[in-house]
Amino acid sequence: MADEADLAFDSEQRHLSQALAAQRARARMQPTGMCLHCGTENLGNQLFCDADCAGDWEYEDTLRRRLGLPGGRGSLH
Ligand SMILES: [Zn+2]
Repeated sequence: MADEADLAFDSEQRHLSQALAAQRARARMQPTGMCLHCGTENLGNQLFCDADCAGDWEYEDTLRRRLGLPGGRGSLH
């Protein structure tokens, strides 16, 4: 029977593997000069204009994965 420490460890593991999946997704992506989240242009080699956009995109990407939807581009708004 799992005690509270085991349960906490479990959810920490899940969180970590989600964060790693998001990191891997970002590592595969090539900078286009546009923010992948909001579409701001002229960013040079950056994928996102700032940490807020990166965080929002990662959150949405995690949701997309969970829902089995294709991730990343084409979802600019
Ligand atoms: Zn942005």
